[in-house]
Amino acid sequence: MNEVKSNKDYNPEMHSAEHILNQTMVRMFNKGRSFSNHIEKKKSKCDYHFDRNLTEEEVDTINKKVNEVIQQDLPVAEEFLNRNEGMTNFKLSQLPEDAGDTIRIIKIGNYDACPCCGVHVSSTKEIGKFQIISTSYEDEVLRVRFKLAKDN
Ligand SMILES: [Zn+2]
Repeated sequence: MNEVKSNKDYNPEMHSAEHILNQTMVRMFNKGRSFSNHIEKKKSKCDYHFDRNLTEEEVDTINKKVNEVIQQDLPVAEEFLNRNEGMTNFKLSQLPEDAGDTIRIIKIGNYDACPCCGVHVSSTKEIGKFQIISTSYEDEVLRVRFKLAKDN
């Protein structure tokens, strides 16, 4: 669950990259999406409940997979489900009580689907090139810092 940030640095490209990163982390490690994040234009960070830091090889693999998804230029679409349908398909425990009876799901091609009320790109190539800057691990939290480059 991601909320619209009032921060003026809030950036749809970064935020859309976060969705792809989260799905990539879920597929590789099955430890869930980031539970906390800070998304800004210049660089962003996502925190995951984890049991160790990532290896260099894993960082390379994540960079490669996220960029593969971006390069496929998948459409980013929204879909509305009622809360019961959403409960069945997604972990909605993090939804605020006042989220209402209709849940907005953001789909990135067939790669990712996640409840979100944020602002996104319309297709993944708009994101640019994804790159992890660094990772760190402390108190059972893995932090992944990343940036985007507009060079494609
Ligand atoms: Zn979103």
